[in-house]
Amino acid sequence: MWYKFPMMEQRKTARWNVAPSLLGFGVMRMPLNEDGTIDRTEGDAMLRLAYQNGVTYYDTAYTYHHGESEPYLGSFLKDLDRSSFQVATKLPQWQVESLDDAKRLFADQLARIGVEYFDFYLIHSIGKTAFLKMVDLGVLDYLIEEQQQGRITHLGFSFHQIYEEFEYILRYRDWDFCQIQYNFLDTEEQAGRAGYELATALGIPVIAMEPIKGGSLMNLDEKMKQTMADLDPSATAASYALRWVADHPNVKVILSGMSTVDHVRENIATLKKPKPLSEKERDTIEEIGEAMRGRLGNSCTGCTYCMPCPFGVDIPGNFALWNKARMFQSYQMIERAWEDERHAEKRPPSCTECGVCIPLCPQMIDIPADLKIVQQELTALKG
Ligand code: SF4
Ligand code: SF4
Repeated sequence: MWYKFPMMEQRKTARWNVAPSLLGFGVMRMPLNEDGTIDRTEGDAMLRLAYQNGVTYYDTAYTYHHGESEPYLGSFLKDLDRSSFQVATKLPQWQVESLDDAKRLFADQLARIGVEYFDFYLIHSIGKTAFLKMVDLGVLDYLIEEQQQGRITHLGFSFHQIYEEFEYILRYRDWDFCQIQYNFLDTEEQAGRAGYELATALGIPVIAMEPIKGGSLMNLDEKMKQTMADLDPSATAASYALRWVADHPNVKVILSGMSTVDHVRENIATLKKPKPLSEKERDTIEEIGEAMRGRLGNSCTGCTYCMPCPFGVDIPGNFALWNKARMFQSYQMIERAWEDERHAEKRPPSCTECGVCIPLCPQMIDIPADLKIVQQELTALKG
């Protein structure tokens, strides 16, 4: 066991019997070898640096790194004092068709990580329909039983759907926590700011994921970068993004999916004792978020109500790529996904303009018309 310096900010909540470090280590974007497996030498160095600096919260999932993440994290944690860290993992609800599936997966996860209990256990990426399926199959009751038996300490869910579904699930029971995507750009997306405020009003702690939006908030355009640099030339865009999330007191853990030792170092430096944003800094960052949202091509929330398209068009997927390219003014950012031959049939040219999807969209988007614009704009950018 290594000596651990208790220097990382911790936020207590009466809901939890532990106070994890504010910085949580998301083990979903670890460095890779050429064959796609986790680079364990580099990964171990990152995890060791985090642990030695007081990062106690480690988040994985059954499916991360094609199933390698849980056993890898377990191999790192096995020599550490069990009370010195918290481990979080997630039930892949999309692989659950029966109560037995959930029981098998749960037992498998305990064995893969090599622990007797999970400090935090989540139903992974749940929406209302999938949640009700878990309720009907008896999976939710089963997880509550596991909690009563001591194999789960805190029970929650992670979420990427629309706010209305978040509200339904959050109010369904007295959860120990919820995990939402939260950063200065996504305040109106998914659970968003309204979701944060609802959780706060209900006294349910929030674990924030994607605080830097998978790293994209480091890639602002030059003008926006300069605006941030004018505030403090020594601060990075990533540090501002993290501090914006840290300024929300009901965020008890900020999960960062780190990929390099430098990411770990920078995140520790920012969050070991996060400096509150000044009013000017907060206003500037939120104005940047607002300006980026103003570049969106349409208001698609990714709710998927328009799906499936009878002709195979991935409507929300196309809009997401388009909106991302517009927000970041970068074709490069979406190039690989947009040009991926395996998804050629899902692109806008497959749309026959049948109109089936139009009345299904709560945002009242003229989907076939916007798909045409997507194709034109991205083809022009491709050049
Ligand atoms: S209008 Fe286009 S996108 Fe919509 S359902 Fe028809 S083919 Fe699919
Ligand atoms: S186009 Fe409309 S219905 Fe389809 S995912 Fe976007 S918001 Fe939802």
